[in-house]
Amino acid sequence: MPADTAAVTIVGGGVHGVHLAVRLLEADAVGLAQLRIVEPAGLLGGFRRKCRQCGMDELRSPFVHHVSNDPFSLRDFARERGRECELVESEVGADRPTLSLFFDHADWICDRYDLESAVVDAAATDVHDERDRVAVETTAGTISTRWCLLTVGYGGSYTLPEWCRDLPPTAPVTHVWDRTFDPEAIDETASIGVVGGGITAAQLATSLARPGREVTLFARSPFRVESLEASTDWMHFSGVVDELHDLPPASRARQQAVVEARYDGTMPPYVFRRLRRAIDREAVELERSEITVATEAGGTVVVTCRDGTAMCLDALVCATGFGSPYDGPLFRRLRSSSTLETGFQGAPVLDDETLRWVREDGSRSRIAVSGAAARQVLGPFAHNVIGARRAGDLIVDTVASEPVGSDREPVVQ
Ligand SMILES: Cc1cc2nc3c(=O)[nH]c(=O)nc-3n(C[C@H](O)[C@H](O)[C@H](O)COP(=O)(O)OP(=O)(O)OC[C@H]3O[C@@H](n4cnc5c(N)ncnc54)[C@H](O)[C@@H]3O)c2cc1C
Repeated sequence: MPADTAAVTIVGGGVHGVHLAVRLLEADAVGLAQLRIVEPAGLLGGFRRKCRQCGMDELRSPFVHHVSNDPFSLRDFARERGRECELVESEVGADRPTLSLFFDHADWICDRYDLESAVVDAAATDVHDERDRVAVETTAGTISTRWCLLTVGYGGSYTLPEWCRDLPPTAPVTHVWDRTFDPEAIDETASIGVVGGGITAAQLATSLARPGREVTLFARSPFRVESLEASTDWMHFSGVVDELHDLPPASRARQQAVVEARYDGTMPPYVFRRLRRAIDREAVELERSEITVATEAGGTVVVTCRDGTAMCLDALVCATGFGSPYDGPLFRRLRSSSTLETGFQGAPVLDDETLRWVREDGSRSRIAVSGAAARQVLGPFAHNVIGARRAGDLIVDTVASEPVGSDREPVVQ
């Protein structure tokens, strides 16, 4: 089958992929006919699924953070439809949209730009840097493209506790981000364990709680409440981000700086309040210990905690976070087979000014990265909506202005 050809191929049609597509089209950096969005789960399908899986009702970020370029697009969308009541008051900063408002607006934006017509219903399996072009291999064939933008989020990578590893596949134990996890399929009278102490675990535990069910939250550390995922200093993408760029790209030091900046395992005040209320009215039981052993027993799972507590559960869901964004199948494949430079723990070496993946010879490829895998350039908000906006600033300018044949230009560090 001859390769499809395109000017820009975006791999991943999530929040970042959709935002970049909108920005590129608006800037006339690409025409719709020359744009491909490789996405197997439908536009924004991956994010929609995760929000449903953890029982989320509202976004954590303010109403100006969404997939459109105009910051007030979502507010105007809500006003025009009499849906201002779906902008929920916030302790810090602007009001936050409900999930349904956020996705209705996002769908409207996708329709306005006819992004569906650019979608290739497939998963990318490999990406080959061919100097002045990029070959994107997908489950539906190859696309030869001038630019490839990798926006696959965490690419399916998540973290499971050690004690999960030896359980048979029949054990009723899963991760909240497992594609097959469906909270609606859990029995109304089940005893359910939720493992974790951050925003996802808290949301999941409170959303699963209802009369007739026993929900136990296994949280080994005290809860930490933070409105945002990192200091607002990082949102300006200057100052602290400039200091980050002083460290060698894709290095252990950069990685550490980002990890230290992130308020991982925290939850915002409104989620904490809901959890507190659920615990107070005994809809959720709090187990302040760590599971050390789990065994399957006749369709249930028996867990033993460090403090000696033992419990038999019908379902156990781990809300123990994402894994490394460089450990999904696509990034692992790229690491093993390409001449693109990687650093500490497989992090891509990206150009700080353009997010282009740097080759081993120091030149910039035509592959750019946005989202969690760009955090060593953009900092702790890289994976958030605001990270997509910043990535848009850098990538759209590059695509719009980069003349063909200048890919051998050395990286300035
Ligand atoms: C429950 C939850 C709530 C959140 N709330 C907020 C919030 O309020 N505000 C905020 O700013 N951020 C929030 N975040 C962070 C959030 O992840 C990002 O804002 C956003 O989803 C990241 O967008 P993304 O495009 O990088 O990843 P995703 O939205 O996950 O999209 C990645 C897409 O890539 C696709 N994909 C993966 N591998 C391949 C492949 N090989 N080929 C083709 N396609 C592939 C997936 O199917 C997926 O659709 C939240 C995250 C979660 C999980």
